Amino acid sequence: MGDINNIETIITLISIGIAIVSIRYAINLKKYFKEIINVSKRVSNNEHHVRMDLGGNGELGEFAKNYNEMIKSLYKTFDELEYKNLQLKSILKSISNGILAIDIEGNILLINDEAKKIINCPLDTMVEGRNISFAIREEEILKQIMLFMGSRENEKISIKLEDGRFCRIKLDPVYLQNNKSIIIGSIVNLEDISERVKIENMRKNFVANVSHELKTPLTSISGFAETLKLNENIDIETRNRFLDIIDGEANRLRRLIEDILTLSFIETDTKKEKDDVDLYDVYKKVEDMLNISAKSKKIELNCNAEKSIIIKANEDYIKQIILNLVDNAIKYTQENGKVNVDIYEENNKAILKVSDNGIGIPKEDQDRIFERFYRVDKARSREIGGTGLGLAITKHIVINLGGNISVESEMEKGSTFIVSIPQN
Ligand code: ADP
Repeated sequence: MGDINNIETIITLISIGIAIVSIRYAINLKKYFKEIINVSKRVSNNEHHVRMDLGGNGELGEFAKNYNEMIKSLYKTFDELEYKNLQLKSILKSISNGILAIDIEGNILLINDEAKKIINCPLDTMVEGRNISFAIREEEILKQIMLFMGSRENEKISIKLEDGRFCRIKLDPVYLQNNKSIIIGSIVNLEDISERVKIENMRKNFVANVSHELKTPLTSISGFAETLKLNENIDIETRNRFLDIIDGEANRLRRLIEDILTLSFIETDTKKEKDDVDLYDVYKKVEDMLNISAKSKKIELNCNAEKSIIIKANEDYIKQIILNLVDNAIKYTQENGKVNVDIYEENNKAILKVSDNGIGIPKEDQDRIFERFYRVDKARSREIGGTGLGLAITKHIVINLGGNISVESEMEKGSTFIVSIPQN
């Protein structure tokens, strides 16, 4: 009986022991799970530096160590990827052309801001992952990309957009790495070439105009020279008249060539030496040059200069501005007219005003007279020795100096040209 009691006591003690161990184990397990849940939650919340601590060196300690190593290397990879992504974005942003990378179905993989501007897509719209048909609001661009998408060739095309802009599209195939037979997408290079097309058209027009302007006096010179050659017995009076015409046309040619050269020089040379230039001093030199033509038309030439107005510029260019404006004022004013020049300072700007009471300029021509070879009355300008380049040259110089030129004019009442040039 006594033995049985002993055995029962032992069994009871063992059971209690097992129960205590189980409860402790369960408590510890709960603690470990809590730690695992807590750490994994914080890791998924991007808390880079959180680490798991399960205590001890056993299997759980090993698990925690491995988990911590995994998190560390995962975040290292994330950071590297993020840095690479940032690098890629910065490179794309600094490319002045529009870059668009698409997969074989036209889904956008990458795009930079310049491309968004060209395809008319708002900069803040996320289009990565979307199809080009969603992102591209310029129908013609979309049409061309769709046409060449997946092509094995490098495609190039220039198109005119509905709003008048010109765009160059270049499409290069992207091959699967190490396998040149599988195309996985395209790189689209978009370039807004509107400015280039405009300059090219201007250049073509200019060349056509120059050829035409040079041809007219040349035809006249060779015509009269031929007539003189063929008619040896021509009377002296007619002969002299023809020679005068040849002389006049040759002078016109010279003036044209001089003006064309000046214009091309101003366009290419922006670094001409600058000095302190006193506008009134320059005006006086121009007055000496134009006094004879003003007197021959009995035109009163006056200048009101406030004080010495100094600007930083090249004196030859300033002389060109004043000469062109005052010469025009004399040319386009009838006899006994008046030409007034005002030089003063306003808001740190030097102002030069040249007014006349001459023939005036029609409203619709006032903007266009600054274009090369534009003349209100071609025949009249030619008759008085104009080249149609004076105001284009003047405007170019003024713009190069950071200034502005405008005109106010009324027919039969006169014109006022106002030039303002910053003084610093
Ligand atoms: P041009 O050599 O023909 O004078 P400009 O470029 O100097 O060429 O001037 C362009 C045109 O502007 C002239 O042909 C003329 O029709 C008009 N114009 C310029 N200045 C005046 C002015 N003061 N009064 C009237 N018309 C002017």
